[in-house]
Amino acid sequence: MRSPVPEYLASVLRDCRQLDGGTVTEGNPELASADPDTFAVALATVGGSLHGAGDTDVAFSIQSIAKAVAYALAIEDNGIETVLEAVDVEPSGDSFNEISLEATTGRPRNPLINAGALAVHSMIRGHGSEERAGRMTDLLSRMAGRELSVDRAVYEAELESDDRNTAIAHLLKSVGHLGAEPADVVDGYARQCAVTVTCNDLARIAAVMANGGKDPNTGEQVLDPAVDRHVLAVMATCGMYDGSGSWLATVGIPAKSGVAGAIIGVLPGQVGIAVVSPKLNEHGNSVRGVAVFERLSRDLGLHMMHVAPSGESAIRSMTEAEDVTTVELQGDLRFAGAEAVTARLIGSVSEGNCTRVDFSEVRAIDGAARRLLREALRVLENEGHQVVVEDPDGFMTSPDRSEAAGENHVPVGQR
Ligand code: GLN
Repeated sequence: MRSPVPEYLASVLRDCRQLDGGTVTEGNPELASADPDTFAVALATVGGSLHGAGDTDVAFSIQSIAKAVAYALAIEDNGIETVLEAVDVEPSGDSFNEISLEATTGRPRNPLINAGALAVHSMIRGHGSEERAGRMTDLLSRMAGRELSVDRAVYEAELESDDRNTAIAHLLKSVGHLGAEPADVVDGYARQCAVTVTCNDLARIAAVMANGGKDPNTGEQVLDPAVDRHVLAVMATCGMYDGSGSWLATVGIPAKSGVAGAIIGVLPGQVGIAVVSPKLNEHGNSVRGVAVFERLSRDLGLHMMHVAPSGESAIRSMTEAEDVTTVELQGDLRFAGAEAVTARLIGSVSEGNCTRVDFSEVRAIDGAARRLLREALRVLENEGHQVVVEDPDGFMTSPDRSEAAGENHVPVGQR
């Protein structure tokens, strides 16, 4: 049987191809010669599937999409506090290469505009631009699942047209927010922008981020889950530059765009999506790319603010027989699910009956859910009720069974 997904993706491309606005970037002559008709979409799930349509194997440079991954690497290298001291996490409302720094602190407003990305790149561990960019290329390769490299021609053309980034780097140095010399930082940043990828590569990279930093195919934990979550939050508010607000409202997927015309979108727990089409709108985001994301979000129900209520689904069944109330739990238990269970337990106990709580069908439990359920069961016992817990996998006893996301803190200090 063939999956219906690629055919659906092809139909989305067919519809969105009709849009013909925007212009290919002129900043870098190597990018200016891109074929404006290149058009592809790829979707990689946290279950390890990859689907695509259009020119999914056409190569282009990653450009600003690398900023999100560089941010993750700088946090892993330095700890969140050090990075936050250098770069804030507020949407700037400015365009991507605006020469703007916070008035009071001199910090760039966020890591996804050039000012922030230059400061972030300078914080990646390594001696000199080549080593920093090399570590970035390695990380991107691990996420994409194949060896990537820097496109020499794009990198050199980038350097030749980098007066503005050079100006920003000098400004950052003057306010003490640059970790290396301006020319060296601009060089490393240009290399990082020039890493060659395909739409399929970007979808795989996005899927690792959607999966809490773990490669869905190899199981390798490539990024710390708490760092991954932090980066996604910043992508949600800042990833589409001065188009970020309307993007979050209409598409609702944390995303990052690049000037070569690609956009990645990361829906935590579900999918990584990549689109490429070189013509850009006034914000520097791909015109057709934005349209494809709007369609996918609507058709596939991917808006992150559209959340199905999950509490009640924690309870698989609740039965009563001869003074024994059995509550069978299931799936992934988090706070809302555990609270729903607690509310049902409180409503059902009566004098002299026994409560049996069965965890056999539970897949994962997070710290908040475990603490709440433990406390509820303890209260029941204290009140003189008999409580029996069936917990073959030890969810309630072993803290390291907490797979569900959301309880890790972003690491502070050197790792
Ligand atoms: N290399 C480009 C620059 O720094 C990247 C910008 C982008 O992709 N938006 O200007």
